[in-house]
Amino acid sequence: MATQPQKKLHFLMIPLMSQGHQIPMIDIARLLAQRNALVTIVTTPLNADRFKSIINRDIQYGLPIRVAELQFQLAESGLPEGSESADTLPSHGYLKNFICAIDLLQQPLEQLFQELRPTPTCIVSDKSIIWAAETAQKFRVPRIIFDGQGCFAVSCIHHLHVSKIHESMESESEPFVVPGLPDRVELTRSQLSGAFNPRSDQFLKAMRQRVMETEEGAYGVLVNSFEEFEGEYVKECKKIKCEGKVWCVGPVSLCNKDDLDKAQRGNDNAKASNDNTDCLKWLNSQAQSSVVYACLGSLNSLTPAQMAELGLGLEASKRPFIWVIRGAYKGEEFEHWLKEDGLEERTKGRGLFIRGWAPQVLILAHPAVGAFLTHCGWNSTLEGVSAGVPMVTWPLFAEQFYNEKFIVQVKKIGVRVGAQVAVQPWEEEKFGVVVKRGQVREALDKVLDEGKEGEERRERAKKLAKAAKEAVEGGGSSYLNISLLLEDLSTQLMHA
Ligand code: UDP
Repeated sequence: MATQPQKKLHFLMIPLMSQGHQIPMIDIARLLAQRNALVTIVTTPLNADRFKSIINRDIQYGLPIRVAELQFQLAESGLPEGSESADTLPSHGYLKNFICAIDLLQQPLEQLFQELRPTPTCIVSDKSIIWAAETAQKFRVPRIIFDGQGCFAVSCIHHLHVSKIHESMESESEPFVVPGLPDRVELTRSQLSGAFNPRSDQFLKAMRQRVMETEEGAYGVLVNSFEEFEGEYVKECKKIKCEGKVWCVGPVSLCNKDDLDKAQRGNDNAKASNDNTDCLKWLNSQAQSSVVYACLGSLNSLTPAQMAELGLGLEASKRPFIWVIRGAYKGEEFEHWLKEDGLEERTKGRGLFIRGWAPQVLILAHPAVGAFLTHCGWNSTLEGVSAGVPMVTWPLFAEQFYNEKFIVQVKKIGVRVGAQVAVQPWEEEKFGVVVKRGQVREALDKVLDEGKEGEERRERAKKLAKAAKEAVEGGGSSYLNISLLLEDLSTQLMHA
């Protein structure tokens, strides 16, 4: 087994201010501190509020971890009060301002870097924090990037980029095979992520180009995944990225062992803890593997009409469900519909509606949960895998259609709801209803089916959950990868 490093490493962690990026990076920070490396997490006050309670408990237990806060320059960036995270922006129209505010953090962060004692020995930054490349160079420390995507998605993106096969497709809906992958994966142009999608925003296209360019100078990449899950694709990633310095250290959510950590992950306000108790009480009253947990991530902005179809589909499934109603987009209009229609009233006792932040890993770990209706965000995917529940997949945008392929076709642990095109957050109105209530019901029937197919799917999901837990335990692949990372950086440090 790999030995522990002798010299003290000090990681300066810079997460992107978006829940799907920040949450796994906080988990990674805690994992590094558990292995006796000093960790300083840098973020803005409102973001820090979302994980401070957990970190404070870690500090009380003696872990070498701390939080440094930098002010987000809201006024200078033209952002309204409270807009410190992608999920709290009033609308997608503020994205450019948000990126501008992130850019303005470079100077204060460099000031902090000089003041911190001991001096950081390594920067771990989200790959979208572009200026971290310059900062790391300035202070002559290695920069490790956190890639919020899985190795399957990274491989798809790489082969699309190299082959440009999508550019030869005339129609947006005609399927083509992504060349160079270990599995036969078919996609359409309208399902592609970022710059490959014909409807991508020019500003974001340019930004992604910059991200790709700065990725190249990174020392290594940290991925929230595990080798037993993405095997062939981890190898692919090692061929593509940072001369093989790719460390899979997940599923990182499994570092949250007790219920309080699970419940507070991503949101630790006091009201949430009452809601969590109610939620657990309700789950305790349900039969084993019977409940559908439906949550479409932290950023979805479904229209009221699309939300209604989802809700009516959950009702039509005749199964108990937890439905996380998030997304501020026309929230009031949706609430009005909900009241008029009477859906919440009709499903009382059978349906639990969560408005706001749900304790997702706490819910998924409960034995009453039998299926996870997910948007295939990479964190949610791994959290579903770690819980051993089969999934109903409803990808929305970004790399989520690739993740769906991996869940349904490659790993065979999910059933598609039937979404056909990536709907960017600013296109919801244009596309209207893309998934009907009948499709939701059918997919749920299929995933919870008690026949052979359903049983085998559940078995596969359970096996993967076991492998996930083993990966993060002492001697497991992800545990060892953290040892290798620490050893590698310690060697670097000795020779510096
Ligand atoms: N999440 C949560 N409660 C919610 C919504 C989201 O705990 O109500 C967490 C979820 O567990 C995951 C993260 O937020 O860790 C979302 O990341 P993901 O990659 O799945 O999707 P994104 O929100 O980035 O689209």
